[in-house]
Amino acid sequence: MDALGEIKKRIDIVEFINKHVPLQKAGRNFKAPCPFHSEKTPSFVVSPDRQIWHCFGACNEGGDIFKFLMKWENLTFGEALKILAQEAGVKLEKGSFVDNDWDQKQKLITINQYAADFYQFLLEKHRLGNKARQYLDSRGVNNKTAKYFYLGYAPKSWDSLLKFLTKKGYTALEILAAGLIIKTQGNRFYDRFRSRLMFPLTDLRGNILGFSGRVMDETTKGGQEMKYMNTPETAIYHKRENLFGLHQGHKDIREQNEIMLVEGEFDAILAHQFGYKQTVAIKGSALTQDHLRLIKRLTNRIVFALDMDQAGQEAIRRSIEEAEKFDFQMHVVNLKSGKDPADVLQSKADDFAQFYKDKQTIYEYLIDSYSLKQDLSTVYGQKAVIEAIIPYLANIYNPILFDHYLRLLSEKTNTPGETIKRALFDYRRKQKQGKKDQSGFATTRESDKKKNVEETLENYLLALLVQTSEQVYLLKKAGQELSENDYYSPSTYKLFKLAQSYTETTPKEILEQLNQNLPDELMDSYNRGFLYDLPTGDIDWKKEITKNILKIKKYSLKKQIQELMKSENETALKLKLKELTKVEKTLSII
Ligand SMILES: [Zn+2]
Repeated sequence: MDALGEIKKRIDIVEFINKHVPLQKAGRNFKAPCPFHSEKTPSFVVSPDRQIWHCFGACNEGGDIFKFLMKWENLTFGEALKILAQEAGVKLEKGSFVDNDWDQKQKLITINQYAADFYQFLLEKHRLGNKARQYLDSRGVNNKTAKYFYLGYAPKSWDSLLKFLTKKGYTALEILAAGLIIKTQGNRFYDRFRSRLMFPLTDLRGNILGFSGRVMDETTKGGQEMKYMNTPETAIYHKRENLFGLHQGHKDIREQNEIMLVEGEFDAILAHQFGYKQTVAIKGSALTQDHLRLIKRLTNRIVFALDMDQAGQEAIRRSIEEAEKFDFQMHVVNLKSGKDPADVLQSKADDFAQFYKDKQTIYEYLIDSYSLKQDLSTVYGQKAVIEAIIPYLANIYNPILFDHYLRLLSEKTNTPGETIKRALFDYRRKQKQGKKDQSGFATTRESDKKKNVEETLENYLLALLVQTSEQVYLLKKAGQELSENDYYSPSTYKLFKLAQSYTETTPKEILEQLNQNLPDELMDSYNRGFLYDLPTGDIDWKKEITKNILKIKKYSLKKQIQELMKSENETALKLKLKELTKVEKTLSII
């Protein structure tokens, strides 16, 4: 057996995916809300029989364990292969899968690791790190925490890292690709990070992808230097996707089913030190879709503990709409007079504990914060608050939650709930009006729906073929009733043709034959049969099969009749209509 097959044999897909996405048993298969798009009803299916997964929702794609890991961690095939081979304990033949991308990325990660070791050594052991150690101390970060986050110090020198990495055998161009040095116009190189406290930025598994470097004496520099400097975009570091502390926090995030989002590295580090191990930093105030997608895989509850300045508050508001699309439950920690979480934690950790305990749901927080800005004793102030909150309220479809916040807003603004409701309906109507103007909306929906019925019927037929033991009956019946153009997809027709050539054998043998002889192009149809749920209970499968085949015939005939009506071919049309009546009549008596 080849390496791929060996890996698949050793790692069970249900067990593997379940570690990342909690799966529920559903008949022969397992189900979950799709981790790759936002949805409320589960359309992500995993088949233990075929060792495959499929999303029947917006993604409409699927595959094997390799494809899953590639999508989950944004990897190339080669990368996923190496990880799974390691997990399965399968040795890959050298050179059997050449993957330059992977080798290049691995090299950058190794270079970053050496750089981190270098910085870390200076911070912990070298006299050059004295100032940085004092600085950490002044910010309340203890040694254990500094070690846990692998903090370091980049010395005030133009080339000490460059020299160190050159000695390790890397070329300037390789170090440049990792973003650790800068190239001058005169083709000379110098260290990017100088005289800075260094924070390694990692992926979920702890691979160092880049760094964030912070100046320690902002006052003396007169604002000339940026407070934080990051690794530029490289083959491995992408700012939009990176969350500081995710490697350290992901286990607790999953266990507590909660993520606490803070702005800066120090906020996250101190939060961990004080026991809030579910904390990560978004580094700045922009929470991106990439961040949210990543978070959604770990938890559906976000607690914002952002800075209390204008930018932090604006960030919370902007994040809500994006996060609402992903169906997150959101809370806000109000730091009251404190500047940021690091500040509060360092000076009064007990206060922070209280603020955390008193965290408000996002809507309560919004109502409060808008109310503070207005004079609620005037009708204009009341109107301003209601108008600011309505767009958020309009997104709440749960009636219990809706009533709760409506009452809250009504009390705060001293305005009857009915009045607010009317304003809300006005708002929704205007929103809808805006949408209807985009022409052609309704018609595409209609044809989508029809396509779905035909596709569903065919999936059901495939499921009946591979999951029951009535293969012989089904293949015979399909042979009698359905012709090539009655099938929704050509590959299903071909699959049935192939299966029909084995009918001289037992049902079990039919599946075995299919398993052995199935050409790749028919694999998709075959897999669909395993992914589709069959009803459970005491079911007359033969009847179910007949019914489904006739329904397929009915839809096909209707389509043909529509075509014939355009062509004015009276005789053919009459024939088809007669056929349709017969099918419908049979269907009504089964
Ligand atoms: Zn999906």
